[in-house]
Amino acid sequence: MSTATITPSAQATPPVYVVGTARLLAGDTPAVPARDQRWLVEAARAAGLLGRGGAAFPVAAKLASVGRGATVLVNGSESEPASWKDRVLMRCVPGLVLDGALLVAGALHSREVVLAVADASSVAALQAASHQRGAGGRVRVVHTENGFVGGEVQALVNGLDQRPAVPNGRRVLPTVRGVGGRPTFASNVETFAQLALLAAHGPEGFASVGTAAEPGTTLVSVHTPDHGTSVVEVPHGTTLASLVGTSRPLLIGGYHGSWTAATDLRIERPALRAAGIGWGAGVVATLPETTCPIGEIARVAAWLAGESVGQCGPCVFGLAAIAGDLTALARGQRADTAGLRRRLGLVPGRGACSHPDGAARFVASGLQAYAEDLSRHERGGGCGRPVLSALPLGGPR
Ligand code: SF4
Repeated sequence: MSTATITPSAQATPPVYVVGTARLLAGDTPAVPARDQRWLVEAARAAGLLGRGGAAFPVAAKLASVGRGATVLVNGSESEPASWKDRVLMRCVPGLVLDGALLVAGALHSREVVLAVADASSVAALQAASHQRGAGGRVRVVHTENGFVGGEVQALVNGLDQRPAVPNGRRVLPTVRGVGGRPTFASNVETFAQLALLAAHGPEGFASVGTAAEPGTTLVSVHTPDHGTSVVEVPHGTTLASLVGTSRPLLIGGYHGSWTAATDLRIERPALRAAGIGWGAGVVATLPETTCPIGEIARVAAWLAGESVGQCGPCVFGLAAIAGDLTALARGQRADTAGLRRRLGLVPGRGACSHPDGAARFVASGLQAYAEDLSRHERGGGCGRPVLSALPLGGPR
């Protein structure tokens, strides 16, 4: 498999690679012709395009559900600590992201395009691209500073409208009431870049790489003990083994994702979903053999508990208790593992957002993937390995 290295435009950006044909990271931003809403809906449907945030919602269905004049919201908060892909796009190819947002705005006859971005370098790059295109009148690049849960789209909308940046609950869709109370087409940064490519290449050209089930390419944030953190553009259908080259358990999807011991998986959302695995924010990570996996899982669980925005009891108390049990286990202390398993089954579905569901999935799948290590800890005394803090957490990166 051939790889090419891209030189990131910003100093602190991790190394960026391309496997096969570069699309998102091709360097030159292709000319993006104007398309109407009907064309975009049909093209997104033909390409099987799924949103590139966490939920993987079909883009065609979302585009078809908004009416003329809807606001366009680009979610560039990238609040998943292990994810770098959106910042790579915003920093390296801001014009492609902006062209995708303007494409959708043209199709919907939108009055406003809002880009909500947490990273200062990305803000500057997008503002420069907007200025270059003379789009300043209807493009607003907003520097947001929400936490992990604040990147959830409803929380983001609340923050943009000067309300506390917390989720509302599951029933208010941005397509019905979004920024400023107006219907809003909201999606992740990469979704807009993919829409720009779809308009530029047409559905057939777009589908000339990837698989029939999921045409095109995707960005993956990869963390391995040997190579550290990198961002890789791959065609769909690429095997995870070729990307990370290990038989150790893999974390797929990030801190709301799942650990798996399966080694024969391909990067293709429909197939992963059929295997019970969400692609989430497009993160793949493995741990070094020299670290204590139970300690690593406990460390992230404690961080996830701290990211609860404190409005739903099962999330606030349940995640804290899970993190406490795991921390005790990791230290080799006696812990109530039956109670831990019970709590992991109780918190999903009990919050106003999917944070407890994702956190419980991360922990439960991790304990399953590292069952042997878990039983050593359950017998008391731990596994003797230090916790190397191999998985990145929040804060400046
Ligand atoms: S489930 Fe947790 S993170 Fe989500 S809104 Fe409730 S308290 Fe906040």
